[in-house]
Amino acid sequence: MVIITQIKVTKMLNYKKLGFKAGLEIHQQLDTKKLFCSCPSILNKKEAPNLIVRRKLRAVAGLSGEKDIAALHEQQKDLTFNYEFYHDCNCLVELDESPPEEINKEALKIALQISLLLKAKIVPKIKVMRKIVIDGSNVSGFQRTMLIAKNGKIKTSKGIVKIPAIFLEEEAAKKIKTVDKEVTYRLDRLGIPLLEIATYPDIKDPEHAKETAGIIGTILRSAKVKRGIGSIRQDVNLSIRNSPRMEIKGFQDLKLIPKIIECEVSRLLKENPKQAEVRKAEPNLTTSFLRPLPGEARIYPETDIPEIKIDKKLLSKIKLPELITEKALDLEREFSLHPEIAKEIIENKIDFKAFVKNYPRTSPKFLSQILIEMPKELKARFNIIHKFTDMEFKEVLTLADNHSLQKEAVIDIMIKIVKKQKINPADYKQVSFQEIEQEIKKVIQINPSLQPNAIMGIIMKKYSGKINPKEVFDLIKKLQ
Ligand SMILES: [Zn+2]
Repeated sequence: MVIITQIKVTKMLNYKKLGFKAGLEIHQQLDTKKLFCSCPSILNKKEAPNLIVRRKLRAVAGLSGEKDIAALHEQQKDLTFNYEFYHDCNCLVELDESPPEEINKEALKIALQISLLLKAKIVPKIKVMRKIVIDGSNVSGFQRTMLIAKNGKIKTSKGIVKIPAIFLEEEAAKKIKTVDKEVTYRLDRLGIPLLEIATYPDIKDPEHAKETAGIIGTILRSAKVKRGIGSIRQDVNLSIRNSPRMEIKGFQDLKLIPKIIECEVSRLLKENPKQAEVRKAEPNLTTSFLRPLPGEARIYPETDIPEIKIDKKLLSKIKLPELITEKALDLEREFSLHPEIAKEIIENKIDFKAFVKNYPRTSPKFLSQILIEMPKELKARFNIIHKFTDMEFKEVLTLADNHSLQKEAVIDIMIKIVKKQKINPADYKQVSFQEIEQEIKKVIQINPSLQPNAIMGIIMKKYSGKINPKEVFDLIKKLQ
């Protein structure tokens, strides 16, 4: 029998010969209140909105002679927009019923910090502008945006990538659904400070795009920015010789950037398109048509907000955050650790992966608590200041791992180590389920009117650190 295996060979593309050029546009949400009101930035509301506000698109005055926008307005006039309004994260500013408040100073500070980390020159006067948005994602029909800094750059393994401009702007509302001529947007996201960082088309190949996005991402995450899905969005602009520019939106995962670019370049070579387009990155690594690439965004001054002067005094007050490393980000991602804790593990040169391997019954999260947080807790609660050696940690972790210890028992062992008291491993043997059950029954028998919390108190006092409080509480409720 002959088996014929078909192997698909992708020829390695020579990006230099193809005249490949790419730039990135990165949008990052800042972790502060909204940009022009005091509403908190709460995202992904699940419950029903408190209000639904219906609007028709209004004509924007003073834009005569702008044919394409006018045409689009004409086209969209008939649409009705439904805005889902939430009392806890929206106010009249998002509805464009009230003028914007003063700019959020914290967001401005973070934008300046990131600009400085990107080696950009801060502009002396920040002018807030309005950028026309016609899809309804901004209730007002415009998005506030301001140039913060110019001429930044980052170093990469393949040379400098220039960052011509950094903008601070308002995040748009999130589209929820479209039914016939009705479009529904949710207002929770509207007005969250968003930093826009665009690079020059200095990117030389797909892997270089990933590296560049990674470096900028690391710098962003060193400052106070939002984390998690949707908090950062990367778009790639690319072209090859004799082909129009393509903008690919919606990269969810940094790792997929090279593959998607590779596929897109192969598509350009095969299809030879004539028109510049905005395309969406699909899960299968291909891209699909979204819309034609728009012309220059229409921008005019925001007259409700005065110019913001950035003088030397203000700049000198800005402290630069310490840059986090790729290593810390790696721990954060792999073990779902809190960013601060991941950072401290790296700073303390702890080989965390080895610990995870050596103590398999202890969850990485609990391990990180023992290594980083519990020594701090000893200081806060017992005024014990002690730098645990590797040997001491080993002793604590071995006991914790062998006996599946709870937090209080670990703290107890740590105190004993510092005070050089004898540790008897038998003291930390897990208590059996039956024993706890018997004990709870006894307490209830003696005093049947006790509240669950009071029973809990008695049991925890007796078995502190050896039992899981949640399991005990569930058991009490079951037995009572
Ligand atoms: Zn508001």
